[in-house]
Amino acid sequence: MKLRWNTLGGKLGLLFCVAGLAVIWAGWNGAGSYNDIRKQFPYLISGGIAGLALVVIGAALLIIQSQRADRVQLEANLTELRNILERMTGLPASNGAAEADTNLVVAGPSAYHRPTCKLVAGRDLRKMPVQQAESAGLEPCRTCAPEGGAEVDLASPDPASGTRGR
Ligand SMILES: [Zn+2]
Repeated sequence: MKLRWNTLGGKLGLLFCVAGLAVIWAGWNGAGSYNDIRKQFPYLISGGIAGLALVVIGAALLIIQSQRADRVQLEANLTELRNILERMTGLPASNGAAEADTNLVVAGPSAYHRPTCKLVAGRDLRKMPVQQAESAGLEPCRTCAPEGGAEVDLASPDPASGTRGR
């Protein structure tokens, strides 16, 4: 159905353009058969306006048709790009930046951290997915445990107390 409209729209657009040019040409010829300029005007005006209208409609149809085709192509490209991203990162690609942000860790010199970790708080460090940090040889931080376990309560981070964790 969609495909049929695409080809139909393109053909209709071309048809309108050709018909418009033919009408302009006919009007020009009709005007040319009179030497009296006052008799030329009706031909020029009616042929010119009707022909121009047809050409404009045809051009609009062609533009709409090509935009539809472009959009279909664009959507296909975006889907392919998303698939590639998902394969590369191992994460479902998402349009929501907030959702993607929760999957990111902060990469330190030798370990990676949750963005909320106090060890990296206030430091300008790179954010990346966990998989990327691990493949770069970084260890998960022992304070904030960013590898996916339960988040440690950072309000009582004293390891000597022995009451940390669950
Ligand atoms: Zn940390």
